[in-house]
Amino acid sequence: MHTLIAITLRICFRLALFVLAFPLVAHAGLPQSSSVPGGVAVVPLGSVLTSADMPQSWLDNQPVLVTSDHGQWYAVVGLSLGMTPGSHELRVKFGDVTKMQGFEVNPKNYPEQHITLEDKGKVQLSAENLARAEREIAVIKELKRHWRAAPDTDLSFVLPAEGRLSGNFGLRRIFNGEPRSPHAGIDVALARGTPVGASAQGRVLAVDDYFFNGKTIFVDHGNGLITMYCHLDRFDVNAGEMVGKGQRIGLSGESGRATGPHLHWSVILNGAMVDPELFIPAKLSR
Ligand SMILES: [Zn+2]
Repeated sequence: MHTLIAITLRICFRLALFVLAFPLVAHAGLPQSSSVPGGVAVVPLGSVLTSADMPQSWLDNQPVLVTSDHGQWYAVVGLSLGMTPGSHELRVKFGDVTKMQGFEVNPKNYPEQHITLEDKGKVQLSAENLARAEREIAVIKELKRHWRAAPDTDLSFVLPAEGRLSGNFGLRRIFNGEPRSPHAGIDVALARGTPVGASAQGRVLAVDDYFFNGKTIFVDHGNGLITMYCHLDRFDVNAGEMVGKGQRIGLSGESGRATGPHLHWSVILNGAMVDPELFIPAKLSR
């Protein structure tokens, strides 16, 4: 009997510890930290009490999002899929004082997917399509680096549409033995015409029809956080418009180079394409 009470007490104690520890780990206002290529590093910059003004931060020359949570300043750093694992440094400015803040990036091996296409024409582009695709890649590269200073940024996203996750982030795709760029977003299987909502409040940065991505909307959430919605069937917003969290921005489809109707959704942070699931509080169905 005494043993049973002792075990029950021990379990209760562990539960209490878990409940106490959980809010400290979860960071209500922060994305999940995952310091790997394609992840997000949440780097503490010190107490709000010692530095009342929000510090500014840069990775190389790209500005980085800084926010506060539970009385601490944090740099929320997007890590590109191509980033080299190891030690990296942020430049941080506290008023007139500039310091270097180190952080580690751990390696991560994303799964490989080998795809064999019989029709070589689907892999090799015509000169005209290649020129168009290259022009658009340059435009998209600029959009990804866009920076609009905002007083605050909502870092807790809603899924743009409910559906089965049909394509994982980071998948290394190899077509007929040739490596292509890794899958820098997630795919949600949706019937054509399903409403797609903005994952958080923001300003529509661009609305365009691209060769690969099809009808695409970029939403700028401020401070270098941008979401991208691809292969849409219809646009319901214009560039420059403000949108609310969950507000319908278009309908899903299979425009561009898509193998079926789905939404490709990417999250961009300080120019890096990062795993969207880090910004979604609940697990997605697969
Ligand atoms: Zn995709």
